[in-house]
Formats: sequence, structure tokens, C-alpha cells
Amino acid sequence: SRTPFIAGNWKMHKTVQEAEEFISGLLPKVYAADGVDVAICVPFTALQAMVDSTRGSRVEVFAQNMHEADAGAFTGEVSAPMLTELDVHGVVLGHSERRQFFGETDKALAKKLPAALAAGLKPILCVGETEEERDAGDTQRKLRHQVQEGLHDLTPAQVAEVTIAYEPIWAIGTGKTATPEIAQDACSFVRALVRDKAPEAAEVVRVLYGGSVKGSNAKELLGQEDIDGALVGGASLDPAGFAEIIDAVK
Ligand code: 13P
Repeated sequence: SRTPFIAGNWKMHKTVQEAEEFISGLLPKVYAADGVDVAICVPFTALQAMVDSTRGSRVEVFAQNMHEADAGAFTGEVSAPMLTELDVHGVVLGHSERRQFFGETDKALAKKLPAALAAGLKPILCVGETEEERDAGDTQRKLRHQVQEGLHDLTPAQVAEVTIAYEPIWAIGTGKTATPEIAQDACSFVRALVRDKAPEAAEVVRVLYGGSVKGSNAKELLGQEDIDGALVGGASLDPAGFAEIIDAVK
């Protein structure tokens, strides 16, 4: 009963011109993609152009980060109201690259989630373990910490509005996709964590898998009971490759 959700995370790729070329390639391919929600998560500089170019289509436009405050002395940051002013639909929060390279903390994320929801943005909270943590048997402990901290300040009704992406760090950009069993186990554990916090939300919250998803492995991953979609990096940069993943939902 959860609508599948395929989101492409471009990371720091595509100028406005490249983004326009992408979207004119993608839109005809997803025109008839019923029963699946599609989003592209694009650099700040391409948001306005992509909102304009996707208006009236089934493709939603997400940012890749935001600050928790509405405004203030935070040089280089962008706030939720600034995103909604552009008709941006949602925002990726806590991507592992932001945690690793830009000092994103669980504490800040606990504030970013309610700020996003208050502004009317759909948040995608990213969680996932490193290879070291998996090898040490610490995967569940890491996921528990990240999910509990991220959702900490949300009401049960707000939790129902969140999407959570399970992205094992060892599978990101490495070509080492998690097996469907590993991905299903982790996504089902994430859903159980949501159930602890907000029992009614657990059945509606969408849990995505991310990490080297491509056309050839998407069907098997998306066929798992607790995997409601994918957060796609590299394979979302090309319209044909991204459309192949969207088609795998059917
Ligand atoms: P890749 O699909 O390139 O492994 O990236 C996954 C990711 O980090 C999406 O947010």
C-alpha cells in the first residue's frame, strides 16, 4: 500500500544547462510511469530551473541539504522557507557525505527534520553504517542511534511524513551493492525502529535502499518487503539509466 519512491541524488553534478538536458531526456520516459513517485535531488543552483521544467510532470524536485533555522548569520547556508519559496518539494537530510565531509551531526538533524516539515518539505533522512561498523557487528546499533536521534523531536504524525533511506556507506559509489537480503534486513530493522517511536507511522513510512543501485539490480532490491524504493546516486545522472530503475518498480 506504500507507493514506491525512486529518488535520484545528483550530488555535486550538473550545471543548469546539463540539468535541462537531463530533464528533457527523462520526462518523455516517465510520462506514463503510474504508481511510482519520482524525485530528483539537485544542487541548489539547479533547483529553480528544475522546478520550472518539471511543473505539471510526475517528477518532484528536492534539495540535498538545508539549515535548521529559517534565517540568520549562517554564511553559505540555505533555509527551508527559501526552498519552499521556489516550490521545491523536499530535501535530503543527513546524507553520509554531509556527515563525513561537512560535519553534519545527529543533533542538527534532529532540528532539521521538524524545520523541513514545518515548512512543508518532505524530508528524506539518510542512515547507514560503515564497513568497519558492519564487520564489528555494530550495524543495528548505528542505525538505532541515527534513526532515534533524527526523529527525536517529531510527533508521531510527523514521523509518518518522513522517508528514511538506508544507505550502507560501503555500498555508496563503490559498485558493491548490498545483497537483497542484507538490504531487506536493514530496512526492516529501520521500520521496527520507526514502530518503536510511532506505531501507526511504521506501515506508511517509506524506507528506501541506496548504494550502487542500477537498472540491473533494481528489480531484486525493490522486490523486498520492506524496501519501498531507492535513493540513486551515479545511475541517476543519465536519463536512460534512471528511467530503467523507475521501470523496475512495475
Ligand atoms: P551511488 O548510487 O552512486 O552508489 O550513490 C548512492 C547515494 O549515495 C545516493 O544518495
